Amino acid sequence: MIELINVNGRITAPEAAAISPLDRGFLYGDSVYETIRTYSSRPFRLAAHVDRLRRSAEALGIPHRSASIDPEAATLATLERAPGQESAIRIVLTRGVGGVGYDPASLGPPTVVIHLRPCPGLPAGWRKEGVDIAVVGVTRNAVTAVDPAIKSSNLLNNYLAWEAGRRLGVFEPVLLSPDGHVAEGASSNLFIVRGGRLVTPAPATGILLGITRGAVLEIARAAALPVDETTLAPGELRAADEIFLTSTLKGILPVRRCDGWPVRDGRPGPVTIGLMDRFDALVQEETNTGASPGATLR
Ligand code: PMP
Repeated sequence: MIELINVNGRITAPEAAAISPLDRGFLYGDSVYETIRTYSSRPFRLAAHVDRLRRSAEALGIPHRSASIDPEAATLATLERAPGQESAIRIVLTRGVGGVGYDPASLGPPTVVIHLRPCPGLPAGWRKEGVDIAVVGVTRNAVTAVDPAIKSSNLLNNYLAWEAGRRLGVFEPVLLSPDGHVAEGASSNLFIVRGGRLVTPAPATGILLGITRGAVLEIARAAALPVDETTLAPGELRAADEIFLTSTLKGILPVRRCDGWPVRDGRPGPVTIGLMDRFDALVQEETNTGASPGATLR
């Protein structure tokens, strides 16, 4: 089991890695990040993740081009040290190291940290039986605050939602937007199926545009499954035929219960199962492997 940390190009075991206590990422959560995973040791949609990292940095005015290493090349260099392992990789890009105080004038270059670890496996039952979700009282950030479309490491709000979900005994909390629409999970996007249509919160709701969400939309369109990106009221969750979550580490996960109520008969529905199969096939095709990626998760 290989776990490594690459700080500005220096790759070490986690216990030997160090960043400055004056790093803005540490002081203010002033950083952006990505979570990527491999399938058969190859990163899935690395270019899309790195592109989103750059867009997140640009939205916050973090001068990512001044970093001493290139996040994409550094990710690949770190991955080379874990051949044959299924890895989860977190890239963190901070505004850099400087004194206390908001003025960034005296900051050094952005810090790049890459954390590579064995990809956590999902319990077999989650894909087969589904997981439980519940709407919690913590709302997603307003788009006029730290826009949820920016994948910022300033995650206290999501953490509070996760805690609220844990108190309710659910796998994933669902956050509403400040105006009361369904936004997303603490670390996932949400879809429902209704009358044969796929429905998911529109970007304007204030959500992260997940890479997995994007892949599901591509698959749905290719399969001529009608898609609505729209506003979704919390009450619509209970009336849904199917609900599922998406994220890099979760893939596509059916939802079994929402707010304590079974979703239909409480079993993964046919549209969700069809999308899971097509997603597995897409991953296999793109990472060009012989093994079914779903096999590690089922
Ligand atoms: N929304 C939030 C808030 C997340 O943290 C994540 C996980 N990164 C997602 C959605 C899913 O995004 P992706 O499919 O790119 O992992």
